Amino acid sequence: MNTTFTLDNLIRQNVKQLVPYSSARDEFSGNGSVFIDANENPYENGVNRYPDPLQNQLKKRLTQLKGVSPTRMILGNGSDEVIDLLFRAFCEPNKDNVVICTPTYGMYEVAANVNAIEIKEAPLDKDFQPNIDLVMDLSDENSKMLFLCSPNNPTANLYDEDRIVQLLKVFPGIVIVDEAYIDFAPGKSVLDKLEEYPNLVILQTLSKAWAMAGIRLGIGFASEEIVKVLNRIKPPYNVNSLTQTKALELLDDEARYLNQVNEILQDRQVLSKYLSGLSYVEKIYPTDANFILIKVNDAKELYNYLLEKGIIIRDRSKIVGLENCVRISIGTQEENKLLCKSLNEYNSKF
Ligand SMILES: *Cc1c(COP(=O)(O)O)cnc(C)c1O
Repeated sequence: MNTTFTLDNLIRQNVKQLVPYSSARDEFSGNGSVFIDANENPYENGVNRYPDPLQNQLKKRLTQLKGVSPTRMILGNGSDEVIDLLFRAFCEPNKDNVVICTPTYGMYEVAANVNAIEIKEAPLDKDFQPNIDLVMDLSDENSKMLFLCSPNNPTANLYDEDRIVQLLKVFPGIVIVDEAYIDFAPGKSVLDKLEEYPNLVILQTLSKAWAMAGIRLGIGFASEEIVKVLNRIKPPYNVNSLTQTKALELLDDEARYLNQVNEILQDRQVLSKYLSGLSYVEKIYPTDANFILIKVNDAKELYNYLLEKGIIIRDRSKIVGLENCVRISIGTQEENKLLCKSLNEYNSKF
């Protein structure tokens, strides 16, 4: 338990007072057959109707997969939308702040800036783990949210569960654990902590392991109270009907998802091993995700070399603490082979 946590004190005043937009589909329940309530075009083409604003069918399927009740889920146009909703629900512009553990995913800071919220940076320790003392020293009565990204992007590692739990116990605001890459670390999710910690919000996404980055579907798991607040402020039709239909279709093939995750994990192992034999690779960081962070002798030069070959990696070397680091996603076996071939050619320069 976190004894200082009171949700009511965190919700923005205007959000508390807000009368949510009530859509035609919100107001209707029962069995209709003639829908002339929403000014839609009545001629069927598959997308002429507004989508279900609460995505009930999709949530039902996600409940089967995740073991979490639909009342504890908020779906967004990518988890990026859920991040933005959290800012808008809990952070008073030009007054509140959030704590992030750097280096980490860039969207937290962008969403904070868009919403005029101060960012407090608590650098990760030398093993890229959150520094609890630093987080607590930095936070004050206006610290509404703490972002923990586990496995972290771009450092690739999981955070120690003990530290996450410790922060859940002592941080005065909402603790958001972004598990975008959790499918690549089976058994490591903190979803099972949801009941015990009402200040916990977990973000997952269909963009990575589930191979649906293009349809934009993110999932927030939280207490029913937090979900209610987010539902009040979300755009009513934030997850479009093509996305809902496609997600349902692809979520049906759990075997394919599991096979691809396994394949990616094996190929990650192969690529790691290959990288370890290259003289200019100074460090391969431990990874719990579908990418590898490495430190090389000259990140910019390697980046440009691979670019010439048509291979695009992510240069992260401008980030404090990640000097000369690049991030490489695990591709198909064929793509990985092409990468290795080019990496080897580059090696012959040294
Ligand atoms: C890719 C990623 C996401 C996913 O965002 P979507 O909007 O769901 O595509 C979220 N968090 C982190 C840390 C990521 O790297």
